[in-house]
Amino acid sequence: MQWWKKEIFCTSIRLIKTAIQGSFMQVHQVGGLGFDSNIYLIIDEVIALIDAGTGMNFETVKRNLSKFNLTANDVELIINTHCHYDHVGGDRDFVEAAGCEVAIHELEAELLRKGDQIITLAGGLGRRLEPIEVARELHDGDRVKLGELMLEVLHTPGHTQGSISLYEPERKILFSGDTLFYGGVGRTDLPTSDGKALANSLRRLAKLELERLYPGHGPFAEKGARRHVLEALELFG
Ligand SMILES: [Zn+2]
Ligand SMILES: [Zn+2]
Repeated sequence: MQWWKKEIFCTSIRLIKTAIQGSFMQVHQVGGLGFDSNIYLIIDEVIALIDAGTGMNFETVKRNLSKFNLTANDVELIINTHCHYDHVGGDRDFVEAAGCEVAIHELEAELLRKGDQIITLAGGLGRRLEPIEVARELHDGDRVKLGELMLEVLHTPGHTQGSISLYEPERKILFSGDTLFYGGVGRTDLPTSDGKALANSLRRLAKLELERLYPGHGPFAEKGARRHVLEALELFG
């Protein structure tokens, strides 16, 4: 069983390149090692990360960024899909490197600002979350323009109360955090988790046109992503 469902973690890192034909914008996976969430790099007019991992593998993440001629200083924005330490622990490294901005749903911004140890699961991982400055609180329906890519913020509670997914309707891309995985869903036995809310969030995602799925852990899908939403919904009957 994998950690986000139970205990253990994926141990390999995959680098992906999603060069979308005729498009400048690129998506790459630059992290996902050990305890880390998947870390997605978006190269567009704004250089952004979706989640930042724990920070425990910062050197590896930097090495992966260097493959695209980027350093940690080039990262301008981190969008956190939710407050868990395996997604936000690495934020500080980037903030300290270049004052990059951190964005997270409004319901979880305060947890980062005050360095919560319980709801973020930092304590459970034997780590300590230092306070993180949140530059932007996100709300359902917000749009985050990165250049060619305009991400819509969907509030998809269930795994945590402030979990978000990020949707790009033109290319049918979904960054789903721990709401939805390739072949599964996030845990709902954690602080602020709510199984019914998760089912409702999945119903909402099922209404979207989806092709590419970039989840918070495990493999991603580059086509036919909607299948994973429908399969996940079956788990709820
Ligand atoms: Zn996670
Ligand atoms: Zn999580």
